[in-house]
Amino acid sequence: MEVVRIRPRGYCHGVVEAIRLAKKVGEERQGRPVTMLGYLVHNEHATRELEAAGVRLVAETDRMKGLEQITEGTVIFTAHGISPLVVEAARQRGLEIVDATCSDVTRTHDVVRELTQRGLHVIYIGKRGHPEPAGVLGVAPEHTTLVETIEEADNLNFPAGTRLAVTCQTTLSMWDTQAIIDRLAERFPDIEIHNEICRATQDRQEAAVLAAPDVDCVVVVGSRRSSNSQRLVQVVEELGHKPAYLVDTAEDLKPEWFRGINRVGVTSGASTPTHLTREVITALEAMPSEDAILTASPPLDDPATK
Ligand code: SF4
Repeated sequence: MEVVRIRPRGYCHGVVEAIRLAKKVGEERQGRPVTMLGYLVHNEHATRELEAAGVRLVAETDRMKGLEQITEGTVIFTAHGISPLVVEAARQRGLEIVDATCSDVTRTHDVVRELTQRGLHVIYIGKRGHPEPAGVLGVAPEHTTLVETIEEADNLNFPAGTRLAVTCQTTLSMWDTQAIIDRLAERFPDIEIHNEICRATQDRQEAAVLAAPDVDCVVVVGSRRSSNSQRLVQVVEELGHKPAYLVDTAEDLKPEWFRGINRVGVTSGASTPTHLTREVITALEAMPSEDAILTASPPLDDPATK
């Protein structure tokens, strides 16, 4: 099968830096306890590599609950960012803190802090239960409201005179997020807009949507836990109008997805190790294309088929 390698794909600068930092800390502490609070990046394979470097995982989505399981040593906060309330609780427990928050997420924290200090109420577009919104909302819990959908945006009401701003999680669909922002701007014409979808997410989504017309389907290599990988599947289906499949490894590829398929596009989430994508590409290239199957099949009136 012909494979179109969609670029850019795979590790973003935030993930590269977070993994580098965590490995360095794991090696330098030489056996003293080092714990990452939640998946450093949402990928099982990257997590196993870190464990091999001496970094233990506390796999709690609720960071405050996870912190209760860490009694000594070093705690690493993940690339998704962390609520200041959790940072303070870690200090009180006497833990050494290593913060691997991506600089793009830190900027969102700064935006929310600055807006709320100016007296604005912030509407934050994000996914409930994901650690990034939990961290950002912790910056000013009393002055932020989380919305996930246009319907939720429609149902928002604020006391007269409330000055509003809107910002968002870094890894959302660019198109869905813009639709919610547009609706909020219709409802609240004076709202201040700060679209914080990161460059890495935008570039990967745009490349996948642009590639979709030239392929029969798209395979996204990434973990189900990864928000940006799930969004790649979504944008290919909704804007590229092609089937898209999320796989963690080459073993997840299902032959039935590729019946009638000649060209498949491959991309990967910002937290997907490169070797996993390479293995998926190799496995796809080894599969016969629809054209090859038709050419290899004997014609129906071939005596050999009788
Ligand atoms: S996806 Fe964007 S915000 Fe998240 S770690 Fe990568 S660069 Fe940072």
